[in-house]
Amino acid sequence: VSTPLNEGAHVDAFPTSPQLANATFIILCRNSDLASTIRSVREIEDRFNHRYGYPYVFLNEVPFTTQFQERLGNVVNKKSKVEFGVIPHEHWYQPDHIDEDKAKAGREKMQKDNVIYGGSVSYRNMCRFNSGFFFRHPLVQKYRWYWRIEPDVHFHCDINHDPFRYMEDHGKTYGFTITMYEYEATIQTLWSTVKSFMSKHPEYIAPDNALGFMEKEDGKYNLCHFWSNFEIADMDFWRGEAYTKFFEYLDEQGGFYYERWGDAPVHSIGAAIFLNRTQIHFFDEIGYEHNPYTHCPKLGTNWKDGRCSCDPAKSFDYDGYSCMAKWDKFMGLPNN
Ligand code: GDP
Ligand code: MN
Repeated sequence: VSTPLNEGAHVDAFPTSPQLANATFIILCRNSDLASTIRSVREIEDRFNHRYGYPYVFLNEVPFTTQFQERLGNVVNKKSKVEFGVIPHEHWYQPDHIDEDKAKAGREKMQKDNVIYGGSVSYRNMCRFNSGFFFRHPLVQKYRWYWRIEPDVHFHCDINHDPFRYMEDHGKTYGFTITMYEYEATIQTLWSTVKSFMSKHPEYIAPDNALGFMEKEDGKYNLCHFWSNFEIADMDFWRGEAYTKFFEYLDEQGGFYYERWGDAPVHSIGAAIFLNRTQIHFFDEIGYEHNPYTHCPKLGTNWKDGRCSCDPAKSFDYDGYSCMAKWDKFMGLPNN
């Protein structure tokens, strides 16, 4: 078997018996997402995982149907272990300390203002779960690394190396493909809450942190965050003391329900405060689409090496709504 020479950033050359990382795919979805989840899994299998056989954990707040489990089990390469879990009640539903009258008033206001998912309780449950609980699920505990996948996403390029091993071997903790601005209406008090946590716990702030990517000159939040529907990251970071205390503090303030704090800004701000900037990694070579945006590889020979089907000229990186240029500048990368 001849393997194509990969001149991209990370050369893996399709090992026949790869040394796998302690890693899994994690997919949170509903039974009604069956067809769209199959499409996402089929793509990641074809573009990457059939050569590796990393396992999958599917999570849901209600049990997956037999049909769901059979259909998903059938698309995944037989090398991969596939598990289906139910989320513990207290990891998903609105906690008792939330004042429901206040939460309801917040939802009604956001609904009236046409904020996306503004009136939804289930969306808030999902954001809080993804912020503070998915990495504590019993089926997930045994893994260190995860790759988050959602129904209806697309992988536009062959991934010719193992991103988990790349992270582990290069001291990376959090990996992303798309960065953008958050809707301010959903996180009105998040930044001030973060600031008060930081003043209570300066000991957790990383010396070469990435706050400079997110903080404006006036000290306010510029709304940049990593889009969390794609994440490859180290769960030991989320499980660690700094992020655990951070999440608990945010959860006590109630903004997951009184406002609509997303797991994307919560993860991103956590990573920006507690990690050194070099621990945050941009995966240029992973062509990725989540409606309505696509990241298409731009660096070196990544697009060619990946046999990418996306149009590099239409990559979200160059969109006015993207924070990519800010990230490149913050990291001191060229082409800005
Ligand atoms: P968006 O990407 O912000 O528009 O939100 P999505 O609707 O894609 O939800 C984010 C992720 O959470 C996806 O993986 C969904 O399948 C999942 N999700 C959202 N709401 C629920 C829910 O109520 N139950 C379950 N089990 N999964 C959900
Ligand atoms: Mn989504």
